[in-house]
Amino acid sequence: MPDTIHWFQYKPGLVGETRRVTHCARDTTETRIRSWCRREFETAAVEAAAEPGATPAPSHAVPCAPCVPCLLLATAATEQPTTSALTTEHP
Ligand SMILES: [Zn+2]
Repeated sequence: MPDTIHWFQYKPGLVGETRRVTHCARDTTETRIRSWCRREFETAAVEAAAEPGATPAPSHAVPCAPCVPCLLLATAATEQPTTSALTTEHP
């Protein structure tokens, strides 16, 4: 179970700046990354990015604007349900 979100984005210069949004990785193979918004990327075309809004680590690129579907889905998937008002499970 992933406890951290891996952010990535197109390397600079490959696509227009308006298409450089920072996605969250859901599945990663040797050559492909699938994002939470169900797009596929070639690993060679993307770079690891810091969490949007956070201070980037030296190994991570400065993030672009976050992909909203990725942000919502990945956050929901990694969030602990203890504080969720939607939790309907009973002990
Ligand atoms: Zn995305």
